[in-house]
Amino acid sequence: MNMTIAFIGLGNMGGGMAANLLKNGYAVRAFDLSEEALARAEGAGAVRATSAADAATGADAVVTMLPAGKHVEAVYTGEIFAAAKPGALFLDCSTIDVATARRVIEAAVAAGFEMVDAPVSGGIAAANGGTLTFMVGGADEAFAKARPILSAMGKAVIHAGGAGNGQAAKICNNMLLGATMVATCETFAMAEKLGLDAQTFYDISSVSSGQSWSMTSYCPVPGVGPQSPADNGYQGGFAVGLMLKDLKLATEAAALAGASVPMGNAAEALYQMLANKGEAGRDFSLMIEMLKGK
Ligand code: NAD
Repeated sequence: MNMTIAFIGLGNMGGGMAANLLKNGYAVRAFDLSEEALARAEGAGAVRATSAADAATGADAVVTMLPAGKHVEAVYTGEIFAAAKPGALFLDCSTIDVATARRVIEAAVAAGFEMVDAPVSGGIAAANGGTLTFMVGGADEAFAKARPILSAMGKAVIHAGGAGNGQAAKICNNMLLGATMVATCETFAMAEKLGLDAQTFYDISSVSSGQSWSMTSYCPVPGVGPQSPADNGYQGGFAVGLMLKDLKLATEAAALAGASVPMGNAAEALYQMLANKGEAGRDFSLMIEMLKGK
């Protein structure tokens, strides 16, 4: 292996991902604007860099795990393109808008680099445990080179097509998740009003045509279905704020592509309401409490 990877963005997700690269024998040069994040990466065995450009200097590959498209574009076009060695491979694992992902990859290719967009499914626990799913967009050769690096951080690495298709797959999946969670929540709230016991309704619907992951693997009703954030006061899990971010990316992409997404738009508006109530940090299945009027 003996590859050196620059890792930029060592927050909640990136910290664990970089640690898994180290565990798998990669050398990591780490950079983050946060001293705390940098110190944690150093503690896991990474070499501290003084800037994104410093991290990328001499690295065989660059992995970024940053908040949004503007950060990704600024870091690559402002620092990494100029600092990276010829032939370096770039992997952006952040969740960003499709248009920016395509623009940055196009610029990387024009500058003579290979690059993939490789957003993840799975939260902080999966990042720490090395069990993320990567949805990857980019050319076949770039994907082939990216696969072993991504495999060191995840359990599944799926090629979704050309540049930006990883982001497209991610936001399509999460728009579907947002819509099915809202539908599951409003249905349990209605079932209660109609006098149906939640467990009984779960037993029926989870083996009937209303079944979905939101119901059977992540039931929003406490005490029903397998253990989920609902059983823990809606703490942990997938934050309302992150679901809202993904829904905004999805509806924005839909508008640009001319796709009609009334359910996605409704889910976005409802998650915005929940975030406005000060609940951006709690799990997204908390939607049931808002729909019950709590
Ligand atoms: P985070 O805010 O914890 O981490 C982002 C890190 O990037 C921070 O440490 C920040 O200091 C750093 N950063 C910002 N700008 C920088 C720059 N210019 N140079 C260097 N470092 C910079 O966020 P996170 O939860 O780790 O999420 C990262 C990405 O992964 C996001 O795009 C998010 O949507 C996506 N994601 C998160 C989750 C989750 O459960 N947290 C799940 C799937 C995908």
